[in-house]
Amino acid sequence: MSTVRPATTAYDCDVLIVGAGPVGLTLAMDLATRGISCRVVEARPADAPAHPKCNTTSARSMEIFRRLGVAQQVRQAGLPADHPGDIAYATRYLGHELGRIAMPSWSQRHRGEDRALDDAWPTPEPQHRISQLYLEPVLRTHASSVLGVRVDSDSELVALTDRGTDVEAGLRHPGTGERRWLRARFVVGCDGARSAVRKAIGVKLHGDDNLSRTRSVFLRSRDLKARLPRASAWMTWIINGERRGNVIALDGDSLWLCHCTLRRDEAFGAVDTRAVIDQVLGASVDLDVIAAEDWTGRRLVADRYRVGNVFLAGDAAHLWIPYGGFGMNAGIEDAVSLGWMLAAVIKGWAVPALLDAYEAERRPIGEQVSRAARQLFANQQAVKLPDALEADGAAGERARRDFGATLLATEIQQFNPVGLNFGIVYAGSPVIAYDAARLPVFEIDRYVPSTTPGCRAPQVQLRDGAWLHDRFGPDFTLVVHGELQSAAVFRVAAQRHGLPLTVIDISAEPQVVALYDQPLVLVRPDQRVAWRGQDLPANLEALINRVRGVAGRDAAGEARHPVSTGACP
Ligand SMILES: Cc1cc2nc3c(=O)[nH]c(=O)nc-3n(C[C@H](O)[C@H](O)[C@H](O)COP(=O)(O)OP(=O)(O)OC[C@H]3O[C@@H](n4cnc5c(N)ncnc54)[C@H](O)[C@@H]3O)c2cc1C
Repeated sequence: MSTVRPATTAYDCDVLIVGAGPVGLTLAMDLATRGISCRVVEARPADAPAHPKCNTTSARSMEIFRRLGVAQQVRQAGLPADHPGDIAYATRYLGHELGRIAMPSWSQRHRGEDRALDDAWPTPEPQHRISQLYLEPVLRTHASSVLGVRVDSDSELVALTDRGTDVEAGLRHPGTGERRWLRARFVVGCDGARSAVRKAIGVKLHGDDNLSRTRSVFLRSRDLKARLPRASAWMTWIINGERRGNVIALDGDSLWLCHCTLRRDEAFGAVDTRAVIDQVLGASVDLDVIAAEDWTGRRLVADRYRVGNVFLAGDAAHLWIPYGGFGMNAGIEDAVSLGWMLAAVIKGWAVPALLDAYEAERRPIGEQVSRAARQLFANQQAVKLPDALEADGAAGERARRDFGATLLATEIQQFNPVGLNFGIVYAGSPVIAYDAARLPVFEIDRYVPSTTPGCRAPQVQLRDGAWLHDRFGPDFTLVVHGELQSAAVFRVAAQRHGLPLTVIDISAEPQVVALYDQPLVLVRPDQRVAWRGQDLPANLEALINRVRGVAGRDAAGEARHPVSTGACP
């Protein structure tokens, strides 16, 4: 029935994941929950902390963490529960406030006390403010201690050979130089921007190479909170004629991340760290620099996400300026999109061709999200600074009020990215059975739930308070109302092909039926709609083969969706 060669003990593991960043760890958790043997190798020593650069975990990532059983731990490790989530804009951190987007603290949100921009988002897991510094250890502990994944620190990938039947990885201990080899059936490069895996398989990045340059300083200061002349915020954007930047509260107390953006005429080598921090803060504050990192804002996407048995995910596959907060989050979705496909092929209920769908689905999303992030950046840059922005007196006040109002009207899109969270659609997948309906057009801040194949299955709360996605099975799920007879036939056909299927009957849930407007909706293990119908397709076998990666002329639905998704922003 299947052309898949079963896993043998000749491999050290089925899937070798290079890089224990958030993307590699998410892939490890996903594979482990699917019962797949995987191993993570990480160049850093076990006690080396992550850089605190990423501070937003999207609602979609939180949904993924919920499924993997780690959402609660991630919530607890974020910004303290009573710390405001506001996004503020100021001339300097200790200067004039220009405006703010109010966001409640986690405890206010939990108690339903305060209204937030994202209150109406259809999810039990709102976006969460947590630094990568705290997120990575939580994910790593869950992967290794709870799910039993082996994570090898001090293991830098230095060589890779894909032999067709397996991949051999050469590893080096960065301290001792000692070398060893591991064999795996598949290797996934989750090794970040400078990916050694990407280089080893000859994949190139393409796009816009230098949108901005920033020195990000991780610092400790008790003074900063004490001297703040206004209410605390989670993130404060700094805009003035001398220096742009951003100050992020990491622990709600003394740890901060201070981004200092360079002007076009400045070089990293010529910038004095303390001087640029002072320009962002607007005063000389008592502080210690813990670490500083220089980075260039880009929009780059890999030309391939897969070569043979080697795959790329996360920053190894795409890099963009962190507007909208979606670099890591897109990588997390790469991980779970690839995870179920690898598991299905390794377990033998899908054919290896299924793995081609990973690049077909995720690479266009890399392009789309990278353009969205670049647009958000351009929007903010386009708001013209008035000359009197920092002036005293009525002229200055008027300038700040008018500028602040224009800025907020522009920025609201960046902090209400409901479309980026839930509105991503796979438009050209070979393993999705599209129908004649037009796909929803992607917009950063707009989302209309849809069961159109390629969309995230609509999430909705049930009458007993539970959420629909929590009822989905670990693999495919058929969501049914009315057509129970057809569902029974579907189940038998799925069994014949070894396709693991959970059937859930939503007939007694009117609000779900309203969203799931067709009586049969087939949802994949990554919560994407694979197919829907009023009744069984004319060729049920062909449909089941399509979603398992067996392409066929007579498979249900067209091989490619007939209409475009519309222009990217
Ligand atoms: C200033 C800034 C702010 C950001 N804010 C956000 C945000 O709010 N939201 C968001 O979603 N994203 C944000 N990002 C982007 C986010 O930080 C990255 O997208 C994310 O870290 C990518 O995760 P990753 O696991 O793919 O790669 P990384 O986090 O880079 O992890 C890669 C891992 O691989 C290891 N490694 C590297 N080479 C090797 C090798 N040869 N062998 C073994 N191991 C290796 C590294 O040590 C590292 O642990 C931000 C980025 C910046 C710069």
